[in-house]
Amino acid sequence: MTLAASPPPAQRLRFPEDERRLPWLGTLLEALHVTDQGVAEAVRRETAQGRRLACRKGCAHCCRTHVDIPVYPLELMGIAWYVAEKLQGPDRETLRTQLRRAEHLDACPFLVEDRCAIHPLRPQACRLFNVFDRPCGPGEDAWYTRRRDVLTPLDSYRRRATELMLPFYGVRGRHAVREALRTGAIHRLARSLRSCRWEALVARMEREDARVRS
Ligand code: SF4
Ligand code: SF4
Repeated sequence: MTLAASPPPAQRLRFPEDERRLPWLGTLLEALHVTDQGVAEAVRRETAQGRRLACRKGCAHCCRTHVDIPVYPLELMGIAWYVAEKLQGPDRETLRTQLRRAEHLDACPFLVEDRCAIHPLRPQACRLFNVFDRPCGPGEDAWYTRRRDVLTPLDSYRRRATELMLPFYGVRGRHAVREALRTGAIHRLARSLRSCRWEALVARMEREDARVRS
């Protein structure tokens, strides 16, 4: 689900002031960057074999079809920060409305006019899901209909991205990190994006708007 995709940025996103204020943010941006690098390298290898990436801007059936998108606590913090503090313009109002009634939507609440409104901070799962050769049809989840067209992420990049995030979850030291990677314990922290409730984020958006107005 690059969804609404543009090629992964070559450069790591940087928000120097915010990263100084919010030490976890740099960790998240670094991990997302490693994820994007891994996707870019995996896509490069596939295209060298003659395959063509089907994901394009405005192609967003996956943001409707996929209902089990895992999202981790650090990613949720990043999404909340981005929406409350960075997102401006009409998307802000649209998202506020969608987040209020997320459970009634038939798509991810961050999908706006077939674009991902949180594209820079979208979760790793969305970054990693890419499809080759033919765009997904309405209602199609290519993971089940044609697994061989779905990008297989490169383990080395996934491991590195996870390693970067583990200290945030209190996992430190070579042995503990190795064990966490071996057991996949971090995956127990994942929630389903589509089943999250966003009242706290809407309230934070309103506090932020009031702060800016004052
Ligand atoms: S091709 Fe499939 S996975 Fe890729 S952006 Fe389109 S709907 Fe999403
Ligand atoms: S966060 Fe939602 S809108 Fe954005 S890419 Fe993921 S599923 Fe699509």
